[in-house]
Amino acid sequence: MNSLPLDDIYQEVILDHFKNPRHKGVVECPSNTCALYNPLCGDKVELFGVINKEKIEKIGFSGQGCSISQSSASMMSELCEGKTVEEVKKIVEEFKALMRGEKDPENSPELGDAVCLHGVRKFSARVRCAMLAWEAVEKLVEEK
Ligand code: ZN
Repeated sequence: MNSLPLDDIYQEVILDHFKNPRHKGVVECPSNTCALYNPLCGDKVELFGVINKEKIEKIGFSGQGCSISQSSASMMSELCEGKTVEEVKKIVEEFKALMRGEKDPENSPELGDAVCLHGVRKFSARVRCAMLAWEAVEKLVEEK
């Protein structure tokens, strides 16, 4: 597995999500699905959501690829389940801002474990890996 020279504490959280992914697996009878592929790295993320009355009642993902893309999908799913579509859109914007370096990771509790991905922005080729799941959930909630 290729790992990046990130700060140890962040690296540990990323590896934990990679080894013990949250919400990994197909959700039964999804109302919405979205699959995205990152050809630069070979990452795949497919999302399954049960969206009812503008709220994500359940979310699951399947995928393969590098540790950044897969741990990011786990972090995103953990954060977005139980949230409304509006809340999810807001969280995705916050995450994009984090990855642009516009947010302080130590002061972004709304992003949960996903703040640990902020160090990836130093490696521009890998930002796509971190963003993949977030772009997928954005499409997931827009699908009617
Ligand atoms: Zn990747």
